[in-house]
Order: sequence, then structure tokens, then C-alpha cells
Amino acid sequence: MRKPIIAGNWKMYKTNTEARALVNGLKEKTMPAAVEVVLCPPFTALTTVAELLQGTAIGLGAQDLFWEDEGAYTGEVSPLMLKELGCSYVIIGHSERRQYFGETDETVNKKVKAALRHGLKPIICVGESLQQREAGETNAFVAGQVEKALDGLAPESIPQVVIAYEPIWAIGTGRSSSGSDANEVIGLVRQTIAKKFGSSLAEQVRIQYGGSVKPGNIKEFMDQPEIDGALVGGASLKAEDFYGIISY
Ligand code: PGA
Repeated sequence: MRKPIIAGNWKMYKTNTEARALVNGLKEKTMPAAVEVVLCPPFTALTTVAELLQGTAIGLGAQDLFWEDEGAYTGEVSPLMLKELGCSYVIIGHSERRQYFGETDETVNKKVKAALRHGLKPIICVGESLQQREAGETNAFVAGQVEKALDGLAPESIPQVVIAYEPIWAIGTGRSSSGSDANEVIGLVRQTIAKKFGSSLAEQVRIQYGGSVKPGNIKEFMDQPEIDGALVGGASLKAEDFYGIISY
């Protein structure tokens, strides 16, 4: 069956010094074997965190990438570079990137393909705004995002994909979705994948919930049959909080 995956999205937090302290704090604790744990620091801390994670069961991911292998693209980071640093995951299409940095369904799709081409597992973020939820558009919108993100993928790469369902209104607000609401949308995400690639591949895809996950509410999500883990922002920035989540 699917092994749950809990990833910490540090966003634009943690200098190298701070990153070292956080990882050392986590390394003092015993990691639960039943959950895959991944840290996604900013680019500047990837090397530091990679070195500290050597010999541990904790995986490493980046928060974005560009789709070319190399070239004159000032400020960008390629999948090759991430792979060499020891990343096995990369977050793609986070709502903050869609909102502030011009990420679209098309660029998300290109990035997903680039990640897979280099053996990086994409954590693809989807989720509706509050306005869309209130207008009853959640299912159609999220299904559309999933379809476009996965467009043109080879069926054999589908089990490598992780999807994070993150309702925008729940991110960083302290107002999480209910477990059953998140389970419903995540079930729909799985059906969308099944329609495109068949149900046996869709059953292998891990789909996380994200948005104000904390030690006090993680169990509500993990108890849901469709939810295979969490993408955690704010509560991944302190070892105590993040450990409280991964050891739920
Ligand atoms: P949050 O962020 O846990 O701080 O709500 C989640 C995310 O943006 O991935």
C-alpha cells in the first residue's frame, strides 16, 4: 500500500545557521518507520541540509526548479543541480509561486516533466481559493489543475508523482480544512488521475493534505482513507512541532 509522506516546506525561512540547528534538533529524535519524512529547505540551505541528513532516513527536496538542464537563465536552478545535491523531491506549483511568481498550469507541467526526466519526484501543489470554494467550483478547478499538471506524462512515471492538495484559504491561516472535506477533494484528485491513467496507477499515487497542519490536527487527516500524508509549512520550522506531526 501507499507509504504516507510528510514533507516540511520551509518556504523562505532559515539561513544556513538556522537550518543546521533545526536539522540537528530533528536528528535527536527517533523517526517513525511507517512514514516517509522529507525536508524542503530553500536552495541556499540544500547543501548544508544534505550533509546533515546523510545516513538518516530523512529525505531532501527543493521548493521549485526550472525545466531546462542548463543555460542562460539568470537566477534559476535546474533539475540536474538539485539531483547532484542529493534531492529526491521537488515541490512544484505551490500556490505562492502561482500567486506571486507567475507560475501557470503550463509551467507546472513543464517542471513536472523536467523533474521526472531527472529522477526527481515532483510534489505537485493544487488547491482552490476561498472564492472558488464558496462558489462551489472546488472540484472542477482542482480536477483541472491535476489534469493539466499531468498532461503528457508517461504512465510509468505516475507512481513517482506526489500531489499536495492545499486549499489556498487554509495556507498559513490557522484555519485548516476538515479531515472529511479534504478527504473528499483528495478522492476526486485520485479519480481524476484514474480517468487519465487507470485506477491501478492512481491507487499508487500519494496525495497529501496541506494547509495549517499542526501536531493537534494531523491525526484527523492521517485517519482519512484517501489522505497519504501532509505538506507542512509553518509547523515544520520548529523541531518540536514538526516532530509532533511526523510522530502523530
Ligand atoms: P502552512 O503552509 O502549513 O503554514 O499552512 C502549508 C504550505 O504552504 O505548504
